[in-house]
Amino acid sequence: MTTPPPWLRAIDAAGLIDADGTVRPTIFAEMSVLAAAHGAVNLGQGFPDEDAPAEVTEAAIAAIRAGLNQYPPGRGTPELRRAIADHRSRFFGEHRDPETEVLVTAGATEAIAAAVLAFAGPGDEVVTLSPFYDAYAATIGLAGARHVTIPLEGPDFQPTVDGIERAIGPQTRVVLLNNPHNPTGSVIAPELLAHIVAAATRHDAVIVSDEVYEHLVFDDAPFSPIATVPGAADRSLTISSAAKTFRVTGWKIGWMTGPAALIDAAMAVKQYLTYVNGAPFQPAVAVGLGLPERYFAEQRASLAARRDRLSAGLTSAGFAVSPSRGSYFVVADAAPLGVSDGAAFARQVVVERGVAAIPLAAFDPRSTDARIRSSLRFAFCRTDAQIDEGVRRLTTR
Ligand SMILES: *Cc1c(COP(=O)(O)O)cnc(C)c1O
Repeated sequence: MTTPPPWLRAIDAAGLIDADGTVRPTIFAEMSVLAAAHGAVNLGQGFPDEDAPAEVTEAAIAAIRAGLNQYPPGRGTPELRRAIADHRSRFFGEHRDPETEVLVTAGATEAIAAAVLAFAGPGDEVVTLSPFYDAYAATIGLAGARHVTIPLEGPDFQPTVDGIERAIGPQTRVVLLNNPHNPTGSVIAPELLAHIVAAATRHDAVIVSDEVYEHLVFDDAPFSPIATVPGAADRSLTISSAAKTFRVTGWKIGWMTGPAALIDAAMAVKQYLTYVNGAPFQPAVAVGLGLPERYFAEQRASLAARRDRLSAGLTSAGFAVSPSRGSYFVVADAAPLGVSDGAAFARQVVVERGVAAIPLAAFDPRSTDARIRSSLRFAFCRTDAQIDEGVRRLTTR
């Protein structure tokens, strides 16, 4: 096969080019169309039903009225960078200088792209967990780097020491983690994170950790922010976002924190991707980051309750449901229902049952793992009524 042009590399890396050269839409786009056409309960895409906290939306409206409508500073407004640094130390014990060690980005998505493009190019390898957030493969493809994966295994979707040792090697330039993990809802065990850090250190790779679900950890699962793992702080960039924490997925305000040299490298790329974004949203996100502990605890408890509600319903519908310890998502294996092709099953379920979910195979299209192929990802960031209706449609004969 000839080398695809750069714009096709991202699409090819995401597994969207068929053997005959046809370019398919993403399963997310396909399921959205099918969901709308069949009046489906949408348990597919991960956007929250509930609006953002009023303090946060009011602050954005006030900022627009006050005329904060021009380019903000390249690294983000000083008050947001200060709020990010304060929030990191308040919740996670990471101490960063808001002047040099914090960078505001156009969502976590731009932060991921800037970090990968800053450190990996042709001939380099970027390691991710598998399954993975779909943008990772596409971004690695744009960088022209090779994508290597560490499979998540067992009922609670954890990496193994063997998988870590096999994936991280001399060509590895970036280890791109996601914890808590989308799509599986797993929280990576601290001792396995320590193995990843040791392997990255041995091969002098940068660790980039996407922690957008840092406030959505359930059951007191032992979540270790990468910056707190011994030996990791000097070689890690932590990425987070307002999207999931404050239910503002349309605002696209994200950030990264880490040592100044790594932030400078990502900044060098970021300034030519978007330069800046979201001037009036930046002070509003600063307000959100300063909300009292109660806000974060309530949102966590509310999502944990909905996780329980959906997990129980999927179990009663005959799925083998994996424990979700974080994020917006739970994985349900349809193998006990006699299913081996989860993508075909997802299409059938949306048409025949009116419930949309995403096949787990969308999060690693090239995986041959039988469980990835037969499982679906369900989102529980929905109202109780929607969850109940989805379960009703899946369980009635
Ligand atoms: C939602 C999500 C993002 C995207 O965050 P934005 O701030 O909207 O760009 C990134 N990573 C993961 C794992 C996500 O689930």
